[in-house]
Amino acid sequence: MADLVIRGGTVVTLDAVFPADVAIEGGQIGAIGPELAGGAREIDAAGLFVFPGLIDAHLHFNEPGRAEWEGAATGSRALAAGGGTLFFDMPLNSTPCTVNAREFDRKRQALEASSIADFGLWGGLVPGSIGEMAELAARGVVGFKAFLCDSGLPEFPRADDLTLADGLREAARLGLPVAVHAESHELVQELSRRMVERGRQGVRDFLESRPVRAEVEAIQRATRFAGEAGAKLHIVHVSSGRGVAAAAEARARGIDVSIETCPHYLSFTEDDVERLGAIAKCAPPLRSSAEQASLWEKLLGGTIDLVASDHSPAPPEMKSGGFWQAWGGIAGVQSTLAVMLEQGHHRRRLPLERIASLLAAEPARRFRIANRGRIAPGNSADLALVDLNASFALKAEDLLQRHPISPYLGACFRGAVRQTIRRGEVILDRGTITAQTRGALVRPTLT
Ligand SMILES: [Zn+2]
Repeated sequence: MADLVIRGGTVVTLDAVFPADVAIEGGQIGAIGPELAGGAREIDAAGLFVFPGLIDAHLHFNEPGRAEWEGAATGSRALAAGGGTLFFDMPLNSTPCTVNAREFDRKRQALEASSIADFGLWGGLVPGSIGEMAELAARGVVGFKAFLCDSGLPEFPRADDLTLADGLREAARLGLPVAVHAESHELVQELSRRMVERGRQGVRDFLESRPVRAEVEAIQRATRFAGEAGAKLHIVHVSSGRGVAAAAEARARGIDVSIETCPHYLSFTEDDVERLGAIAKCAPPLRSSAEQASLWEKLLGGTIDLVASDHSPAPPEMKSGGFWQAWGGIAGVQSTLAVMLEQGHHRRRLPLERIASLLAAEPARRFRIANRGRIAPGNSADLALVDLNASFALKAEDLLQRHPISPYLGACFRGAVRQTIRRGEVILDRGTITAQTRGALVRPTLT
């Protein structure tokens, strides 16, 4: 007898959306089909869509070291509230950053104690850390993250060209991807300096100091270096249609590059930054509506591989004061699926199968996490049960993250998560966390 049967839902796979029951045994998906035999426990999913649990390939829970900014206890609960079952934590803004095996072990221990979702860990690529990469790979990092411009943290310096080139070569040898924050240091630094010099420190000045061409230049350089090293490259949070086009051009030349964007670039524009202030401050910044339309066009056309939250929270006091001084980063971990359903599916007819790919299957495939990201027999039973037509306005008290700061507050969405199931365990049930066990580390399968 199955441990759990999800009865009467509509299952979303990569190539079809169809009515079926889903049986779960020992934390794995058993059978998928009509009228399966009864289970020890059943969930009535009539009227609900059964999605693969979200895999958030890019977020910052900042634990250990800056858990007062978020922490995996609160962050993973917010992820689960949005249908997420697995996340990959970035090497910053935890501190010390995850740039060697000792810090990997510390973070793993902290997250095993606090996270209700499963997790993978990114290692850092910073000047001087090339020698640490092999040990990080042996520990099980999903890849290495580098900044091509200042990260905002002195303990995580940007990768200069030589560090990037050497890091890509070492990552290629280890069979792992390098993820880059792609903005040109030279352009951003000089444009910012001129703004400060002229006393221009407003919202528009900040946006102008980080133009699309800074993103395009960095993508072109990183892809060229990746090609020379024979490395896999992942461009995180591409903010513009032109940025996507630059990466796609490299891909067409045979470079192994994947493209990520975030819900905020698909939801908000420069005008929203003026309206919302520092809550909507991030880097690269939000763009013009024309650039956003182009980003959507690329996503609908299949050029963008995956969507990740880049949840990057900070305490409210770091978001107040002047816009220029405020800490950057958008805290949206709970809203990724809601955004993709409302903005993508309901408004732009993005097929549900594509949402399952962007938010689960492709993160698992690209970062080689076996048996995850797809609803198929033998795979981990990681699921999100969603009422596609239930509409809600996001309220601060609904947010399970540490600080209820979100640019999506007050926004209306169609598509409410009813249950989140991680390895067969219901970890969220109608807004309430029900997890009894903690999350576990996942590692890539290296060949
Ligand atoms: Zn990030």
